[in-house]
Amino acid sequence: MTSVSPHKKAKALKPTSRRPAKELCSECGLCDTYYIHYVKEACAFINQQIGDLETQAHNRPRNLDNPDELYFGVHQDMMAARKQQPIEGAQWTGIVSSLAIEMLNRGIVEGVVCVQNTKEDRFQPMPIIARTPEEILAARVNKPTLSPNLSVLEEIEKSGMKRLLVIGVGCQIQALRAVEKQLGLEKLYVLGTPCVDNVTRAGLQKFLETTSRSPETVVHYEFMQDFRVHFKHEDGSTETVPFFGLKTNKLKDVFAPSCMSCFDYVNSLADLVVGYMGAPFGWQWIVVRNDTGKEMLDLVKDQLDTQPVMSQGNRKEAVQQSIPAYDKAVTLPMWAAKLMGVVIERIGPKGLEYARFSIDSHFTRNYLYVKRNHPEKLEAHVPEYAKRIVEQYKLPE
Ligand code: FAD
Ligand code: SF4
Repeated sequence: MTSVSPHKKAKALKPTSRRPAKELCSECGLCDTYYIHYVKEACAFINQQIGDLETQAHNRPRNLDNPDELYFGVHQDMMAARKQQPIEGAQWTGIVSSLAIEMLNRGIVEGVVCVQNTKEDRFQPMPIIARTPEEILAARVNKPTLSPNLSVLEEIEKSGMKRLLVIGVGCQIQALRAVEKQLGLEKLYVLGTPCVDNVTRAGLQKFLETTSRSPETVVHYEFMQDFRVHFKHEDGSTETVPFFGLKTNKLKDVFAPSCMSCFDYVNSLADLVVGYMGAPFGWQWIVVRNDTGKEMLDLVKDQLDTQPVMSQGNRKEAVQQSIPAYDKAVTLPMWAAKLMGVVIERIGPKGLEYARFSIDSHFTRNYLYVKRNHPEKLEAHVPEYAKRIVEQYKLPE
């Protein structure tokens, strides 16, 4: 007699039902499947367990006494890289899409969880299990909105797939790692991107309308290492807006409460992470966390230019000054914001120090947010590494 896994008896929530993590839900997709059975243990916002899952995924804990591991998580290698032939329309040079295509073409995996957009709306996420390179390519570029990537998990079990690649951001990957053993896979590969300041689709609209000169033609944007937001428009033109000129007073509530409470910016549980913030302008940043990640990266190394990571400048003062400025929602006049952008680009933090600047500013902001809005969660929800990072700064009450 075959026994039915207990989760198969559970029922996915209706799209309109309130999620177990309530306002902190990041819509990761787990609760759209019968894996909701595990939500109390698996949800990143109900049960923060990055430390235990790091040991499970990478066979050892993060070394908190190693300054690079404290910030960037368990890793065996880091580098800056870019594709020799970038993929047109990718977020950066398309390392993520290229890797996924290579794994599928070589038969290393049978499917790839990634996120396309709906026909009607280029920023409305539509998670899929891609089974062809064309489907992976159609998922390139960020959907800068909360995306229920794990909503396809039931399909995986039903399809009988045994070797799978999942592309995702930290909160999705945390829930995935927690249910990994229940998926019936022989091998799971996890390709992560860093993630911060995500928004609902409505929040994205507000951000575009308050920040861009032409919100309806934006096809792509990124907060770049030169301290500017770069918008790319349909006609191929680029618009840049200095971070310091953002209308902080109008944008304060735009970020999702989940992202204001997140301390997994660097996607600690992925095998391989591909972002940009630890690399010089124009380059991507790669963090190889374990042997599986190395195996994945080796598949595309001949398509990449690489260089060692570098670090320059000192972030500390800029971070300390940004804390009360954000708290009081100060917005500089545009001329001052531009000037400040130019100065900080010349003398400011670069490479890994820029990544630390971004981590410090977000962790201090998020620590204050959790302390003020969910004080009962603060102790258990903030991982030890984040507490050590936040302790370096003086925070307002
Ligand atoms: P591409 O080849 O264009 O592929 C992009 C992949 O991302 C696709 O496979 C797609 O499935 C997946 N994807 C798109 N949107 C989502 C989503 N909402 N949720 C889950 N998966 C998605 N990097 C940093 O270094 N610092 C940051 O602050 C930072 N913030 C980010 C914020 C968000 C919301 C996202 C989605 C990513 C962020 N990244 C950040 C990662 C970075 O922007 C690039 O995605 C990464 O460098 C890969 O670029 P690429 O050209 O190789 O990707
Ligand atoms: Fe469920 Fe994911 Fe929301 Fe947590 S974040 S409540 S696991 S959908």
